[in-house]
Amino acid sequence: MSVSLNIPENVNIILKILKEAGYEAYIVGGCVRDAILGRTPGDWDITTSAMPEEVKTLFRRTIDTGIKHGTVTVLIRGEGYEVTTYRIDGEYEDGRHPKQVTFTRSLSEDLLRRDFTINAMAYHPETGLVDLFGGEADLKARTIRAVGVPNDRFDEDALRILRAVRFSAQLDFEIEPATLQSIADHAENLRLISAERIRVELTKTLVSDHPEKFMVFHDTGITKVLFPEFDQMLAMPQENPWHCYNVGRHTMEVVKGVPADPILRWAALLHDVGKLWTKTIDGEGKAHFYGHAKKSAEFAGDFLRNLKFDNHTIEMVCLFARHHDAWFDGSDKVTRRVISRVGKENFPALLQIARADAMAKSDYAKAQLLPKYDRVEEGYYRIMAANQCTTLKELAVNGGDLIKAGIKPGKEMGELLQSLLTHVIEYPEENVKEVLLERTLSSRS
Ligand code: ATP
Ligand code: MG
Repeated sequence: MSVSLNIPENVNIILKILKEAGYEAYIVGGCVRDAILGRTPGDWDITTSAMPEEVKTLFRRTIDTGIKHGTVTVLIRGEGYEVTTYRIDGEYEDGRHPKQVTFTRSLSEDLLRRDFTINAMAYHPETGLVDLFGGEADLKARTIRAVGVPNDRFDEDALRILRAVRFSAQLDFEIEPATLQSIADHAENLRLISAERIRVELTKTLVSDHPEKFMVFHDTGITKVLFPEFDQMLAMPQENPWHCYNVGRHTMEVVKGVPADPILRWAALLHDVGKLWTKTIDGEGKAHFYGHAKKSAEFAGDFLRNLKFDNHTIEMVCLFARHHDAWFDGSDKVTRRVISRVGKENFPALLQIARADAMAKSDYAKAQLLPKYDRVEEGYYRIMAANQCTTLKELAVNGGDLIKAGIKPGKEMGELLQSLLTHVIEYPEENVKEVLLERTLSSRS
């Protein structure tokens, strides 16, 4: 059976130049996998028997991207392509850069170092597919299988156990039993892997088309190592009319229900973790979780900081966790109040989370919440269209106006402005300079 893949013109040029100079060259790894699947590859990686210095002499414009590891970026018509010399890897430091590598002139040695059969194929338009480990068959069977002996591969680099789950979530593939068992046996080794590498794989899993595969992290004991609170969430029932799932299952439903964006998926994953520390049971046997949103936001901050997330992501996830259960009654007044807490630009995303949250609750809760959220959304558009004030910046008076009116700058003035904001959130039509000044002066006399 011969596979024929669609390769971009620029990639073909690179393969041709290397070949004409007497070297072997193939596209390899993720792009071969994706091209066979009919997915658009993120990048086209080329592997070659030529040494990095040899590659550099063949192309006019190159960048030493990772020359020590054998990678040279070749620029063709403004586009960059990574060309990497066949190599045998030592231990990995991060996904692409092992601590020490040995170059080789043998393609099969290079393919042997790769993680999964579906990622270990090479292709050249003339030679066709080089598939030494049954990668094509595994693609057809939708299977993730380690190259060679799973235990050896995961001993070399424990990150691969996260990659296995991540690929299964991106592709909706199953992990074959021996590989899965070995993943479970290597979960503890994740303690040696850097936070940055872990962050990348967890996030890719969460934003994939099948974030429910996050459960594989639980089933293989990975969350026990990286996120033990998740296991506790799965073990915590919610005995009240609002819920039909335990905290963990509910959480997974919310994750699936929000758009595939890193901030939203992380916020969904962490929005209810605070329930672990706030659960109470009342006289009627009903569970309550007072103040859980605040606890969730605190936990999210610590957790994401440990994973070395950027400040913006941390801030946004905490904001959404903190306000995910904001109380609404459908009135524009209350909607403005919530908008003033989260910001106009963030409100639509908060509503997406609130809706996904509701969808993952009992029929009773859905009937209570969903119609209300429709009214909240209409209100939001009304508030935006009318340009109603929800921030100090939009207030019709500022500090300067108050100084002119004889009020001294300082703490008291800050409180005054804040109280005016609270007032106009309640009465938007009173966001008029004269009205607010009048109000201020009369309240002080
Ligand atoms: P994507 O780019 O969509 O995330 P990919 O398969 O291209 O997926 P990369 O991380 O870009 O993944 O790596 C390219 C190739 O390098 C992989 O297909 C695999 O063959 C190999 N590879 C990457 N990381 C590892 C690793 N930790 N262990 C073994 N092989 C790896
Ligand atoms: Mg790639």
